Amino acid sequence: MRNITLIKGDGIGPEITESVVKIIEASGVEINWDIQTAGADIIEKEGTPLPQRVIDSVKANKIALKSPVTTPIGKGFRSVNVQLRKELDLYANLRPCYNLPNIKTRYDNVDIVVVRENTEDLYAGIERQVDENTAESIKIITKNASERIAKFAFDYAVKNNRKEICVVTKANICKLSDGLFLNSAREIAKNYPQIKFKEILVDNCCMQLVQNPNQFDILLLPNLYGDIVSDLCAGLVGGLGIAQGANIGKDYAVFEPVHGSAPDIAGQDKANPTAMLMSAIEMLNYIGEKDAAKQIKIALFDTLNANIKTADIGGNSTCSKFTNEIIKRLKVLTPQY
Ligand code: ATP
Repeated sequence: MRNITLIKGDGIGPEITESVVKIIEASGVEINWDIQTAGADIIEKEGTPLPQRVIDSVKANKIALKSPVTTPIGKGFRSVNVQLRKELDLYANLRPCYNLPNIKTRYDNVDIVVVRENTEDLYAGIERQVDENTAESIKIITKNASERIAKFAFDYAVKNNRKEICVVTKANICKLSDGLFLNSAREIAKNYPQIKFKEILVDNCCMQLVQNPNQFDILLLPNLYGDIVSDLCAGLVGGLGIAQGANIGKDYAVFEPVHGSAPDIAGQDKANPTAMLMSAIEMLNYIGEKDAAKQIKIALFDTLNANIKTADIGGNSTCSKFTNEIIKRLKVLTPQY
């Protein structure tokens, strides 16, 4: 049986975690979940939202499934998500964005993979108050980090049969920093002649995405633009409730939905577990459980096609009903359970 760290988080985290764990269990995949709590709720007891035991658990198990974790604002704690990515050197943030069945969106056939550099840029957290009226944030871009994320994107393209990578920067303004990211991508692209390589400025990219998203295949971006553009792409295919994500490094991988802990709907059985489920499906693929991943995806798509949907995507189902409907369909698909 495989050990996987399960970070439960807070807000809607526990609800969607319970849903996803039930669905995976029903698929027949046997996982020994190493359950770890993190976030605002444990600060009082443990003095930090991200105790060392969480990091140690992921290091031991190599893989984690994580639900959203709130970092309290203004209490001096570094973002749990940013810190976890840094501690585990999860340098690649991967967000596939494609249309799911029976979810009405402006465009059909969107199929974009956003590859975001995850460790530097303005997220290096180097800020200072210069004087009373001036604050300064430092944007760090290195050749090493830029080359490894470009290589990740091209390897992903080859492995997943994708055709094109478009690197997104503001290299006309940030000539040195974004220029370095762009030049690194250009260099790495030379090693992959089978993958088409394009360049675009981030402002134009945003306009093109809302006008004609079907022109894009893989987008490769530094951290900040990647954060913004990937939410734009999530919006193109139906919003945060369905947007999956993964943070991948050389040694470890953490799969998690893109959305936050949605405190406005927490504890009301309204949350959409799809984003976390889609992340878990990718996790199952990653660990080689491809049949289960496929079956869960079919059961999810069947449920959506039967018009059973949570409110955020235009339905009136609760999280628990939606979960049970997926499991019901999964049972039909896998008669041995
Ligand atoms: P954070 O700063 O942690 O990203 P946030 O409040 O900015 O938090 P979210 O927590 O992602 O962002 O919530 C944004 C909106 O999307 C909220 O109205 C929330 O209810 C909704 N939302 C997010 N995730 C889901 C979900 N899984 N199901 C239904 N609604 C969701």
